[in-house]
Amino acid sequence: MSLVDQMDTVTDASAGSVDRHATTETFESTNPASGAVVGVFPVHDADAVRETVARGRVAARQWADLGYDGRGTRLSAFRGYLARRLHELADLVHRENGKPHADAILEITLAIDHLAWAGGHARKTLGPRKVNAGMLAANHAAYLEYQPLGVVGVIGPWNYPVFTPMGSIAYALAAGNAVVFKPSEYTPAVGAWLAAAWRAAVPDLPDAFQVVTGYGETGAALCRAGVGKLAFTGSAPTGRKVMATCAETLTPVLMELGGKDAMIVDDDADVTAAADAAVWGAMSNGGQTCIGIERVYATSAVYDRFVAEVTEQLRTLRPGSDDAASYGPMTMASQTDVVKRHLADAAGAGARVVRGDADPSLFPNENYVPPTVLLDVPEDNVAVREETFGPTLTITKVRDAEEALELANNSAHGLGGSVFSKSKERGMDLARRMRSGMTSVNSVLTFASVPALPFGGVGDSGFGRIHGEDGLKEFTRAKAITRQRIALPVNLMSFGRPASAADALARVMGMLHGRHR
Ligand code: NDP
Repeated sequence: MSLVDQMDTVTDASAGSVDRHATTETFESTNPASGAVVGVFPVHDADAVRETVARGRVAARQWADLGYDGRGTRLSAFRGYLARRLHELADLVHRENGKPHADAILEITLAIDHLAWAGGHARKTLGPRKVNAGMLAANHAAYLEYQPLGVVGVIGPWNYPVFTPMGSIAYALAAGNAVVFKPSEYTPAVGAWLAAAWRAAVPDLPDAFQVVTGYGETGAALCRAGVGKLAFTGSAPTGRKVMATCAETLTPVLMELGGKDAMIVDDDADVTAAADAAVWGAMSNGGQTCIGIERVYATSAVYDRFVAEVTEQLRTLRPGSDDAASYGPMTMASQTDVVKRHLADAAGAGARVVRGDADPSLFPNENYVPPTVLLDVPEDNVAVREETFGPTLTITKVRDAEEALELANNSAHGLGGSVFSKSKERGMDLARRMRSGMTSVNSVLTFASVPALPFGGVGDSGFGRIHGEDGLKEFTRAKAITRQRIALPVNLMSFGRPASAADALARVMGMLHGRHR
């Protein structure tokens, strides 16, 4: 029987025995394309969340004791399970989030790849190693290792309900932590499915990965439940609330917040490829992508050709819920109003509006937004400054790539970005100077598919890193150990040291470092 067929069971089982303590309150998740109910889930209250974290703490000790090999075997079983049920999970993502089945497959594929990398690289990145003890402690051996934090709380969004939380879940688990995951109220079924998949794949340690469901209050309860770290992905305003709540218990946080990512199209760019990437980067997933391209700065040498190419490509795009649709509905209905407001503000400020051929009167309901490009929007307009999170793109003509970079960097956000230039040196130089955590040269979003690369932002886009070695270390604490190998006749760190020792030390320091000016 598929996990989807067992959805009711999953619903009850998603939090294990938590339901004994949960309030009787429940909530529904619905299909944004049809309004059909996808599942009914408990609203876990503070007691239920505390109980879940307490169970996670017991599991965390057992999970840590398994060591890298034992955890690696089980993480492989989990990813094998996901790979075998890929279509089943993709169907659920399609129904609950609205994205086309093929896009759901792509999202899950990326998550599985990260799971494999995290499991395969944990020991090398985090395991005990000897480091140079240095001159002052030459008679000691020095060791470094990265130890798990215990239970990691993960609060996830709805736009990539598998890939995004898995960026924290996979790396936290691989680093030896247990995880309690609170999915968005818009995608609880996907979260519950993942936890049920874990229990099926890793039956000897079901509590190493658990899910609690509910609204913001459940998330806030997770912040207060004594987790070792709280990994949050979502909007900056909610991120601030999560940080404030975590501050009550000095719980450290990882913040993956929104973006307003820019693409720079330089004089020598392959304009057709840049247009293709910009349209995909902006419109795929209905633009509900934190690292989606929202602004393009094209130099005057390529602007006209670039706009013509984008306009041409826009024609073919059609939102819908069928397999051939380019993208689905807005997952969160209220986001449609944000997108409309940004479009209206930009048009009111004199922007030219370019739409594809998709006929909005044929859209199944008002949750579908047509692909829209805004030309030459004033830089102080809300459509340029705030995250739109819809299938929209601004294109602005600039003198040259330097002006493009200046405008790209003039943003409170700094998550990802893209540069198109045929010159390797120019492309790399612009990428380095872009104020963002990640930049792809001659493509979009590619950095997210490279498990070895860290993912995270600067400024209002947050701090901390998931993915890669940094992502593994993010869910650990560094542990330093020294072990004396031989006792020296003179011990500087003893009240018994001779009075002359300090002078001798000062002379040695003078010889070693004094010549540097
Ligand atoms: P939020 O930032 O409000 O929610 C993200 C997660 O935080 C959800 O699981 C949410 O739960 C939870 N949450 C909400 N309030 C609290 C709280 N007080 N304490 C702890 N957890 C809480 O995002 P929305 O879903 O409302 O989307 C709003 C905007 O955020 C979008 O328009 C978009 O701009 C941006 N966004 C950015 C994402 C990214 O990838 N960077 C992803 C999603 C959204 P619940 O859903 O139950 O409220």
